[in-house]
Amino acid sequence: MSPTDVAARAAAGAGTAQRSVVTTGAWHRIPLTAPGVFRVRPLPREATASYVQRLADTYQLTLPQLLDGSGITTLTGHGTPPTAELILTPGAARRFAVLARTPLPQLTCALPHLPLSDTAHDTEAAANWKRLDAGQQPVRACTLCTRHRSQNATDTAWIHPPPHQLVCPRHHQAAPDPRLTSTVRTRDVPELAATHHAHQRLLRHPRAVTAWITARAITTRWYDHQQHLTHRWHTRLNQLRATNPHMTTTGSASPALLARDLITYPETVTLARALTTLPSRRHHDTDDSLALIAHQLGLPRLAGNANDPLRVFLTHTRH
Ligand SMILES: [Zn+2]
Repeated sequence: MSPTDVAARAAAGAGTAQRSVVTTGAWHRIPLTAPGVFRVRPLPREATASYVQRLADTYQLTLPQLLDGSGITTLTGHGTPPTAELILTPGAARRFAVLARTPLPQLTCALPHLPLSDTAHDTEAAANWKRLDAGQQPVRACTLCTRHRSQNATDTAWIHPPPHQLVCPRHHQAAPDPRLTSTVRTRDVPELAATHHAHQRLLRHPRAVTAWITARAITTRWYDHQQHLTHRWHTRLNQLRATNPHMTTTGSASPALLARDLITYPETVTLARALTTLPSRRHHDTDDSLALIAHQLGLPRLAGNANDPLRVFLTHTRH
């Protein structure tokens, strides 16, 4: 059977009937360079293993069956997101792009770990599983966005979102930590979706990235040392726990730690914005700046001691 026959047979079906046409048996007869039958859009910054798995789900194949059927050899190991990533050789990435019916440059744009190869001579088509350190692991993507992009095949995907995409404002879900195997529902904490929009506005400022990194370091320290905003953050944690019982049952990590970035998110964005708009130090002393920032955070004052990270930053670091 030629690939054209497979495509025609698949196209002749509709909905669920369409899927059943491509059985594992038919799949193995497709020549290696044949384009796939289905097209599944990658999520922005999706883990390669996650996208390959979603494509396999669409064909109702296992991930090894899908790779094997497209002539990609799995050389080392076995794994699953978020603790492991599937690394394709450039030759395998080219084959995979054909299978996925998506141009390779477009695919490498979406999948940060997929290699972009411009040499047609690199023909080795292999895949290797690589274990990822905690700091490099992807997090669960919004289940409803994933279902939409997967044509309802699955609600599970793993992504490496940038900081300004912590929350899906449309579906009120977030995944602040790779150890959370389900997303956190945030509808009962509406300030998180509002913060998402404030964060997008912050990005227009030329110093947004630096301000964000500084602000996050400061709010993280305040959170860990229970300073300034403890009551507000504790209330938010309880709200999240009430609607997300799975946070309490995830391994050994505490909900307070798993949800830290989410709990501090509103104040981190407010602080980052304040840092981008402060008058220059020459015209403003540290106490005036602290009073201004306290006001923006909705606090009566920010009296912190000499070691307070915000005071240290305003006194010594800012130019
Ligand atoms: Zn969503």
